Amino acid sequence: MKIVVLPGDGIGPETMAVTVNVLEAVSQKYHLQLELKHDIAGHDSLKLHGATVTPALLEKVRAADGLMLGPMATYDFKDEAKGEINPSKFFRKTLDLYANIRPARTFKGMPARLGEFDLVVVRENTEGFYADRNIESGGSEMLITPDVVVSLRRITRVCCERIARTAFELAMTRRKKLTIVHKANVLKIGDGMFIEECLRVGKEFPEVAVDDFIVDAMMAHVVRAPQRFDVIVTTNMFGDILSDLTAELSGSLGLGASLNAGVNHAMGQAAHGSAPDIAGQNIANPFSLILSAGQLLRWHGLRAGKPAFIEASAAIEAATAEAIAAHEATRDVGGQLGTRETGAAFVARLMAV
Ligand code: ATP
Ligand code: MG
Repeated sequence: MKIVVLPGDGIGPETMAVTVNVLEAVSQKYHLQLELKHDIAGHDSLKLHGATVTPALLEKVRAADGLMLGPMATYDFKDEAKGEINPSKFFRKTLDLYANIRPARTFKGMPARLGEFDLVVVRENTEGFYADRNIESGGSEMLITPDVVVSLRRITRVCCERIARTAFELAMTRRKKLTIVHKANVLKIGDGMFIEECLRVGKEFPEVAVDDFIVDAMMAHVVRAPQRFDVIVTTNMFGDILSDLTAELSGSLGLGASLNAGVNHAMGQAAHGSAPDIAGQNIANPFSLILSAGQLLRWHGLRAGKPAFIEASAAIEAATAEAIAAHEATRDVGGQLGTRETGAAFVARLMAV
């Protein structure tokens, strides 16, 4: 498996350095034949090459199976014509990474304010309000007059179908429960079609119990009793909002892992941003990125039929739970170690089992 590694901004370089050590360790232990290709994107690339993502980098990523993207500070990327493209958005669109899979779970050893839970948000990643026609266009908003804006939300049957399939397949590997989150009382046609496709695909998975919630009510339910949920499937913007909530409910944004999966490529990415306030201080939690790397290995294992990758991914998950329970972690999750020390302890734990 070939993975392009792009460290990103803020806490990206420190958390990615730890993640690379973890990948190298599991590669050795599980004989993965993993090839890591180190490169740059974002601000570093803008300075050096005049664009946040160069055609050469895209070519390299296309030739690989996946990439690990560090968090990027994107607030100062204003002009795409000047090469200031948001790399995350660029790779999601260009590689058609349609399924954004964001697990959220509690760990022993941390205070669980809402009790223990273990759920996954499956967010449609290519359309909805984010469906601009192409990467160069102004996006899905239009200024009709200086005082009137129209925002377009695209929902297509084919995208509903493929995200539903991803969610049901995932549910089959878990507790076989799927919740559809929507706003079909207002978005009758678009979210109506989303539900219709989910239910249609669901007929192929009769073992999976299906229910649905309107997104506003869902906010209350997920805060009241997150343990009632297993897999949650939803459209792009609802998934964006809901998954930030579930990551925070799990105890720390620093545990928010994610995988952006397509047919031929996938991208592991922490669900949080570049956290400039704590960058360079060796205190950032690396587990969001480590767990994302685990998701990427698992994706490849399933797709390529390589059980060793699935084993390595399971080992990363299990060791994360053990490390947090043993407080071999950063302060945000109840430990006392720095980023590097957390990484070193984690690698030692992985190699010992
Ligand atoms: P950006 O503009 O890149 O999104 P931000 O200032 O919004 O950056 P986030 O990365 O979104 O910051 O994170 C919000 C807060 O959560 C940070 O200020 C930081 O304290 C905390 N945080 C985020 N990620 C981590 C992490 N991996 N470990 C510890 N704390 C984190
Ligand atoms: Mg942010």
